[in-house]
Amino acid sequence: MYTLLIVDDTKENLSILLELLGEEYDVIPVTNGKEALDIVKEEKIDLILLDVMMPEMDGFEVCKILKEDTETKDIPIIFITAKTDEDSIEKAYEIGGSDYVTKPFRPRELKARVKRELELQKLQKQLKIMATTDSLTGLYNRRHFSTLARHIFDISRRDKKNISILMIDIDKFKRINDTYGHQTGDYVIKHIADILKKTKRESDIACRYGGEEFVILLPSTPIEGGCELARKIKEAVEREEFKTEQGSIVKVTVSIGVSQVFFDSEKNIEPALKRADEALYEAKEAGRNTVCIRK
Ligand code: GH3
Ligand code: MG
Ligand code: MG
Repeated sequence: MYTLLIVDDTKENLSILLELLGEEYDVIPVTNGKEALDIVKEEKIDLILLDVMMPEMDGFEVCKILKEDTETKDIPIIFITAKTDEDSIEKAYEIGGSDYVTKPFRPRELKARVKRELELQKLQKQLKIMATTDSLTGLYNRRHFSTLARHIFDISRRDKKNISILMIDIDKFKRINDTYGHQTGDYVIKHIADILKKTKRESDIACRYGGEEFVILLPSTPIEGGCELARKIKEAVEREEFKTEQGSIVKVTVSIGVSQVFFDSEKNIEPALKRADEALYEAKEAGRNTVCIRK
């Protein structure tokens, strides 16, 4: 169920809205902006109905604060207010409000606007997921990976720590496709992605870099940490028995190149990616199912 936060300094207004929306939604009523800002930190809020005229902090100010914070900027805000002048309406949209309803409001209209806003929000989230993740594996796609990499690079500079990079490629994967079919090939890719998700830390960023190739970034992690994860992944894949729909058991291995981004002497992750790729090539040359390191 969706959770709505309703902010209004007049208690009667809160009870009317609570009655109107309480059956369909989880509704949290608060009487001032400060409380609203506290609640959004604690609860997952899907939409805010926000009064404009309130003592101490008005609705516009609350909206501005929420829109400046990356954690809360995507929560849609519908203003509900007695202010009907065009300047206020214009301002509400300018500062990031999604909709504007004037008091006294028509109950069914308000309900319809809330519903529409929540549906839009859901669609936007789906679009964002589609744009940033790979549909087969659920890992980040390569395009989004580049965006995240820049972000992680900034963090590593602040932390004064290097980033470890793993480049992982499935060994002799063409043979799996040729022997068992493309569908089994897809299944193996997906299953290996699951192993990566399970083996890495929450804060490590994994992406599907190409067909049967993956990259993992370990923020603020010296290369020894990267090597340890690489070994764990190599062993986990080696141990795994991939069962096909026809009941055959496929054994798969991966080769991994490890490198690190030097936070103090490099401007981006590109040179380190190249070193990881060279290390991966070395691992293939060394006979596959191997981890190679390029410091
Ligand atoms: P190596 O050990 O040198 O990495 O050998 P390899 O066969 O894994 O490498 P190669 O790059 O020659 O072949 C990769 C194959 O992966 C070729 C391509 O058809 C297949 N492939 C790429 N993307 C997908 C996919 O999404 N699904 C499936 N089933 N196969 C894919
Ligand atoms: Mg391969
Ligand atoms: Mg490859």
